[in-house]
Amino acid sequence: MQTADFLIVGGGIAGVSAAARLAPHGRAILLEAESAFGYHSSGRSATYYHFGIGKSVVRGMTAFSRAHFETPTANGTALSHSSPALFIAPAGMLAELDSLEAEMRPYSDGLERLDADAVRDIVPVLRCGDDGIVAAVLDRTACRLDSEMLQQDYRAAIKRAGGQSIAGARVVAIGREGANWVATTAAGDRFSAPILVNAAGAWCDGIAHMAGVAPLGLQPLRRTIIVFDAPPDQKIVDWPFTKTAVDDFYMLPQSGRLLACPVDEVPSEPTDAQPEEYDIALAAAKTEHYTSLAVRRIGHSWAGLRTFTHDRIPVAGFAPDAEGFFWLAGQGGYGLQTAPAMAAATEALVTGGSWPAGLADRGVGRADLAVERLRIGGAPT
Ligand SMILES: Cc1cc2nc3c(=O)[nH]c(=O)nc-3n(C[C@H](O)[C@H](O)[C@H](O)COP(=O)(O)OP(=O)(O)OC[C@H]3O[C@@H](n4cnc5c(N)ncnc54)[C@H](O)[C@@H]3O)c2cc1C
Repeated sequence: MQTADFLIVGGGIAGVSAAARLAPHGRAILLEAESAFGYHSSGRSATYYHFGIGKSVVRGMTAFSRAHFETPTANGTALSHSSPALFIAPAGMLAELDSLEAEMRPYSDGLERLDADAVRDIVPVLRCGDDGIVAAVLDRTACRLDSEMLQQDYRAAIKRAGGQSIAGARVVAIGREGANWVATTAAGDRFSAPILVNAAGAWCDGIAHMAGVAPLGLQPLRRTIIVFDAPPDQKIVDWPFTKTAVDDFYMLPQSGRLLACPVDEVPSEPTDAQPEEYDIALAAAKTEHYTSLAVRRIGHSWAGLRTFTHDRIPVAGFAPDAEGFFWLAGQGGYGLQTAPAMAAATEALVTGGSWPAGLADRGVGRADLAVERLRIGGAPT
């Protein structure tokens, strides 16, 4: 039996960021089921940081997290680089574009309203004009995150603080022994600690079930991305992350190719998500609808799960029904861009520290993230 102060189950961005903040306070052991860290959602995202998504609590946590992404790693590697986001609207989406602009304004001082000509100047392949995009909002404060480096950097911090990150350690049973939680892996190894942090992404309700804790009714939703060649006459490197004002389509450049997403949200079991033919075809069709591009050959595609609570706000807090069982779940489509904030909240709540002023200043209180809000007046099953 290995003993620790904190057991963290799940080695995606949520688990590694929380473990990195907890490790200086005591012995932290992080257990990841797969042989590679970040294999599930955290390795399948679009890696963007922007204010065009989520409720105000999510935007507040996104704003809080910026300082972390702007600080290079100990060896000087950048965790992000500036890359604007462009929110586009055909005539029928103008009301939603107005609302989105109003919602983003308190968080971004880099917003600019554009007409169709200005949009065409930035992304020449977008279908603009009367039958197409008529307006957009450019957010110059958006950035691209280096997800792999971010996760590596957090794991390095866990190690520096004397903690351990163990891959290939699938937790298959969780029980109580005295004041401790004991997690047993598929290999039969046993780990014990008074505090267990449930950061297992789409599997969080399953982890709770193993521990005899009431689930939160989390819902994993599958999302698909296709990759295809850019037209040779276009200089795509400076194209922004381009998304419709309502959730319908986004596109962005990556390593000389284009990524497109039909913004699908297909309910799924917790699983190793794979792209479905229908969603791949939908991504291509929407690309051809919003742009003049012909998607002749899809080079690659993938799918990942975005797991939500019923109010679409993540949860960070102790379970009211099980001492020492901490929920860190429901990061949805913003788990990377909010990870530093969620980890800071976790540190404060687990160690009994004061609530981070930077979160309070941005309108994020502990009650906003608490488990209780999902059970009182909420709809979890
Ligand atoms: C297509 C797509 C695009 C996205 N784009 C963005 C974006 O641009 N910006 C952004 O901020 N977010 C984005 N997201 C969302 C983001 O990827 C997620 O919110 C985030 O990765 C969730 O992290 P996590 O650590 O909670 O989950 P995961 O990364 O899934 O990690 C959970 C881990 O727990 C492990 N686990 C499960 N069960 C056990 C067990 N029994 N024992 C041990 N370990 C276990 C799993 O193996 C897994 O590695 C996107 C997601 C998708 C799918």
